Amino acid sequence: MKCTMLGTGHAIVTHCYNTCFVLEEDHEYFLVDTGGGGQILTQLEQANIDLCSIKAVFISHAHTDHIMGVFWLIRMIGMYTMMGKIKEPIYLYSHPECIQKIINISKELFTKELSCLGKTLLFCPISDLEERKILNHRIQFFDTQAKKIAQFGFNYEYDDEHILTFCGDEPLSRENMCTSTTYLMHEAFCLYSQKETFKPERAGHSTALQACQLAEKLHIPNIILYHTEDTDISNRKMKYTLEGRSVYSGNIFVPDDLEVIEL
Ligand SMILES: [Zn+2]
Repeated sequence: MKCTMLGTGHAIVTHCYNTCFVLEEDHEYFLVDTGGGGQILTQLEQANIDLCSIKAVFISHAHTDHIMGVFWLIRMIGMYTMMGKIKEPIYLYSHPECIQKIINISKELFTKELSCLGKTLLFCPISDLEERKILNHRIQFFDTQAKKIAQFGFNYEYDDEHILTFCGDEPLSRENMCTSTTYLMHEAFCLYSQKETFKPERAGHSTALQACQLAEKLHIPNIILYHTEDTDISNRKMKYTLEGRSVYSGNIFVPDDLEVIEL
């Protein structure tokens, strides 16, 4: 299984794209979040991902930096459906309120593209601890109990023995969801050493240090940090890794946009 980070930044970054990524196996894709707009199409193109090969989409929550790209996907899915390029349905998973927002906004924005809804784009409302299969692997969604807005994460069994845990964009509160985690995907708004500058707690976020402390406490072997500030992207990997390393003995990934992680 391959993880390509399409975006790695927080809500209002301008030097990278908002956090979203794809999991890939056998040229089929599972897209997690869509970023804040039309740049999702650029990111997919630059990662060489054919939109028609996306089999499933998950939207963690209805904040603009995660949901707005979906309307560009619907625009394209609608067009490709009319062209006969999409034959099998794409499944969109999210919690019911988020799906309702996507439907409501789509009805305001689109006319002929609406014909793909319920046909080539199928909405799948999920509930806490619900299990499904995506790309033939078991996934269990969970309510992250986020403070700002209803948000879901998931545990994805990307092979028989390994689990990727995605926590959305707030600090993990349900530690019991990570008992078998191989890779923890956790937000890190900034460095702990820069918390006075960026004030992550004010935005409901954590730091690289805090995320890595959590991974150490839970004995998780790998952590992927994302949803960061973007004032020093060229040194971000080095600085975040260095800070995390001081408290964490596992592997630290601080991907740049379009970076690929082999799980
Ligand atoms: Zn966010």
